[in-house]
Amino acid sequence: MGARPLPIGYPSVRTRTPRYGHGDGRDGRRADTVACVESAESAHDTEPAGAPGPGWEQLAHGVARRRLPHLDVTIGLVVGADGVLLIDTGSTLREGAELRAQAESLTGREVTHVVLTHGHFDHVFGAAAFPGAAVYGERSLGERLRGERDALRADAVRHGTDPAEAARAAEALVLPSHPVRSELTLDLGGRPVLLVHPGAGHTAHDLVVVVPGATASDPTVVFCGDLVEESGDPQAGDDAVPAAWPATLDALLARGGETARYVPGHGAVVDARFLRAQRDALAERFAS
Ligand SMILES: [Zn+2]
Repeated sequence: MGARPLPIGYPSVRTRTPRYGHGDGRDGRRADTVACVESAESAHDTEPAGAPGPGWEQLAHGVARRRLPHLDVTIGLVVGADGVLLIDTGSTLREGAELRAQAESLTGREVTHVVLTHGHFDHVFGAAAFPGAAVYGERSLGERLRGERDALRADAVRHGTDPAEAARAAEALVLPSHPVRSELTLDLGGRPVLLVHPGAGHTAHDLVVVVPGATASDPTVVFCGDLVEESGDPQAGDDAVPAAWPATLDALLARGGETARYVPGHGAVVDARFLRAQRDALAERFAS
């Protein structure tokens, strides 16, 4: 990569107008963060410098996400003047390493912060690929991970993760270095980001990331973890807290508001109306 990559759409960086505006991707349009990356050296090239490969979707200035091919897991990326935040880390160390390389290519900097939205293997198993980052999780997440290393490995294999890769990831499992009690504001440098435990639901330790717009015209982006799923019904295992889930989605809606872009743990970006419908469906599913 000859040209120096620059932060994705960070306000201090000259950017192109996103070709696809704020479309929700439901119609299968190609995700297009790449269109928003530009440098002086590449301004006249057809392929901008720092192109991270396909799959990244820009959601707002300095905010992007990728849907991983394996299990359609969402990975979030938020860029500030001083820091780069990655939200969730994928199912294997290999996926984590790819994400690190792509994040560095997109932003020109190392990932400084990692948020784990909850303790399922497809969100936490890549975390060891970010040894220099501060790792945030809801305060009970560390205890849970410590006790479930082998259960996570088995779950990963059951869901099609290569057994050797699952074993390596379980062995290298990273516990959060920064437990979050109920909420915490991270300052990425002119870019405050709020980490919130809005209540239980998909697990007892769900943590969401609320990213206010960097400009007045930018939407708030809310990374919901698996409290919200779009590509299928929300997965509820033995560790789910169904009775609390609908109220937790109400708390999430109160945080993001009517105009936020809500990013599910799996699936296309959705709006407040979708969240209300999912809340109602969950309430009905778990009634009785
Ligand atoms: Zn999950």
